[in-house]
Amino acid sequence: MILFISFQSNKPIMRKKKQLILALVPILVLVILFGGLYIAIGFRGKASEGGLEVVASFYPLAYMAEQIGGEKISVTSLIKSGVETHSWQPSMQEIFITNDARIIIYNGAGFDTWMQDDIIPSIDLKGKILVDSTSGLELIENTNREELDEHGQYDPHTWVSPKMALKQSQKIYQAFVEADPENLEHYTDQWIIFKTKLEKIESNYINALVNYQKKPFFTTHEAFGYIARDYNLTQFSIIGLSADQQPSTQMVAEIIEKMFEERVNVFYLEPGYSEVYVQVIKEELFQKSGLEIKILKLYHMNGLTEGYDYLEQMERNLLNLKVGFAEDGK
Ligand SMILES: [Zn+2]
Repeated sequence: MILFISFQSNKPIMRKKKQLILALVPILVLVILFGGLYIAIGFRGKASEGGLEVVASFYPLAYMAEQIGGEKISVTSLIKSGVETHSWQPSMQEIFITNDARIIIYNGAGFDTWMQDDIIPSIDLKGKILVDSTSGLELIENTNREELDEHGQYDPHTWVSPKMALKQSQKIYQAFVEADPENLEHYTDQWIIFKTKLEKIESNYINALVNYQKKPFFTTHEAFGYIARDYNLTQFSIIGLSADQQPSTQMVAEIIEKMFEERVNVFYLEPGYSEVYVQVIKEELFQKSGLEIKILKLYHMNGLTEGYDYLEQMERNLLNLKVGFAEDGK
């Protein structure tokens, strides 16, 4: 636009400017082209690395995909490792990234409703395979009426249980075979390796927890319902299915009473949570009963945590449950 401002000035200068303009045009064209390309690449993220383009909602699913797909796929996790998952919402960038993928994997069970509500209606679905990793699986009904509106009909934390993880990852394997049958053998080999690891962990859960049937365990956030259901334990928590709530004083008081009743000495804290409420519980329970509460960890598996990957966190959870149950009543 600036180019025409001097149009009424004297002719020799105008000619010079015209030449300058002509010289600038190719540069402008290049700037616009490369600028556009740069933005496109930026939005695409990892999409240019080659292999089957896979998008997963969050870390556990991206981990499963990586293990099963190996070098034949390129996977992007929409929620970055370690980011709070419960209140997360996609931006335009995640819509672009998902639009470039061939396979879209989401947890389902009400965990990532934004995938179906916001992303899927905004993208071109032609040739894409959608994997709802919990479709058809037996889910835990959300019985807390107050939470029903906000968190939906089911407990979304399926991935913490090896039993559920086995079924979820099998759906991912099937989607890879469907999308890329030429590499059937590769996916099958990788799937068998991953499945064997998970089955080993699952049998460790069964063997270790069979001695603690129906035993109660106490957590900050109600994220381990599928472990409780699948291995027959009883979960109590001070906050509900959503991790961003504040615990009520009433809930804290109830937990203290329950721990006292059950003679439980251990409280499980997820890494990333404040220890404030746990300290309150610890002090009050000590005054009430003289019980010295130990704090152990249970991992939510939002990402690589303290250097532990998804399967390692699953193993740590079992180890800490065993340590905790052995402590109780001492
Ligand atoms: Zn959670």
